[in-house]
Amino acid sequence: MKVAILGGGVTGLTAAWRLSGAGHSVRVLEAAPRAGGNIRTERVDGWLCEAGPNSFQEASREISSMIADLGLGGERLQASPLAKNRYLVMKGALVPAPAGPGKFFSTPLFSMRTKVKILMEATLSPRSRPGEVSVATFIRDHFGAEVLERAVQPFIGGIYAGDSERLSAKYAFPKLWEAEGKTGSIIRSGIAAARARRAGGLPASAPVVSFRAGLSALTEALASRLPAGSVELDADVRALGPGTGARWRVSWDAPSGPGSGEFDAVVAALPAWSLARLEIGADGARPLSGLGEVEYSPVASLFLGYRREQVSHPLDGFGALVPSSENRSTLGLLFSSTLFPGRAPEGHVALTAFTGGALRPEIALLPQEELLQRVCADLRDLVGAEGKPVFSRHVLWRRAIPQYNLGYVRHLDTIAACEARYPGLFVGGNVRDGISLPDCIKSGTLLAKRVS
Ligand SMILES: Cc1cc2nc3c(=O)[nH]c(=O)nc-3n(C[C@H](O)[C@H](O)[C@H](O)COP(=O)(O)OP(=O)(O)OC[C@H]3O[C@@H](n4cnc5c(N)ncnc54)[C@H](O)[C@@H]3O)c2cc1C
Repeated sequence: MKVAILGGGVTGLTAAWRLSGAGHSVRVLEAAPRAGGNIRTERVDGWLCEAGPNSFQEASREISSMIADLGLGGERLQASPLAKNRYLVMKGALVPAPAGPGKFFSTPLFSMRTKVKILMEATLSPRSRPGEVSVATFIRDHFGAEVLERAVQPFIGGIYAGDSERLSAKYAFPKLWEAEGKTGSIIRSGIAAARARRAGGLPASAPVVSFRAGLSALTEALASRLPAGSVELDADVRALGPGTGARWRVSWDAPSGPGSGEFDAVVAALPAWSLARLEIGADGARPLSGLGEVEYSPVASLFLGYRREQVSHPLDGFGALVPSSENRSTLGLLFSSTLFPGRAPEGHVALTAFTGGALRPEIALLPQEELLQRVCADLRDLVGAEGKPVFSRHVLWRRAIPQYNLGYVRHLDTIAACEARYPGLFVGGNVRDGISLPDCIKSGTLLAKRVS
């Protein structure tokens, strides 16, 4: 079968690699001059900077096998054991997130009342809600307002750059939603899941990983395992019209002029706004136009390098998350050179700060110099980073991550209806199947299975 894959991010490339491995002929059409989508590693003057994602959870055996099959086993890096230390900011200082029962009782993050509520959560009974609720409501119900404000909203800022009052618990955190329905308690479900992983010979929590050359190693390996000429860059797909017989005619714009080709099936692993403007079928309708309403908030990331002696904090952890009540410009901070080796030159440290998101989008859009000053001021207060960074890299994501907000089901229904109306068209990626890299890898594999 000849398959067009629209979008050369991790989802599209995974689908292409799986389909090619199953003997199909694939052509990846990618609008940008490079493949990889959100994954973009740059190496400059001895610094290794990730413009987008920095790491991912090796959440399943399928992902482990994929890493091995791509020949990346020797390149894989597991995050430093220090990464288990996670910090939250409270009253301008970094406070360790409680990892074990001992630390839980002594942490200043939560009042005694909240601690009791957290313990009592384990006694909740299964619950089926009549409709979806926001993540904020869901967390308040289970753990109380303090946990939401001091831990969960910052965590959501770190993952979705989202707003817990608007994100849908059911679609943004489907495993928690399911856990509530099945057992009632998130804590009990978490313990059971960790036990099940251990019983299956896996570590209790999935390892956080990257590669020696950064995350681009993954998308580059996927692309390089395809037959030569399978990836067409600068190909901005605009229309999927009828071809000969039951085939599709895919048309795209390219700097050299319009291009087109006929395919037996089409896989779309595109952002919502690109799906929204796709003309599909003989009449050039835009059946996915409703996806133009999917919200994305802007995020700016600043990769900052300092000489080791400029930073007084030991940087002995994954990073720090900042509650919005702290009124900082920084949403969250990764201790990049602690997480993986080779991120900073000898004698230096690298930090990655994220700003903006759904709660303070205007911060991400600030001029680079002003943003740098604000973030450096935060870093001085939070981790004792004195003076100017010796290296900095600024990346603005105007539309970073799709927000699975309340009512998102209408977008999922639109996609399902479109697939039902146009057999041979398959839609996946972070608009539909989850936003994390493991979700996207799974989505690419699922797309390939459905096509086959
Ligand atoms: C700043 C940031 C940090 C993140 N951090 C993490 C993290 O640490 N860990 C984690 O697990 N996840 C993280 N994520 C989420 C994760 O990176 C994404 O959800 C994932 O990479 C999306 O992959 P995708 O292939 O579905 O989409 P994309 O990567 O968006 O790929 C879609 C591709 O389609 C192309 N395209 C668009 N329109 C067209 C068109 N008309 N024709 C052809 N091609 C087109 C685009 O150029 C793009 O290459 C982060 C995301 C961002 C933005």
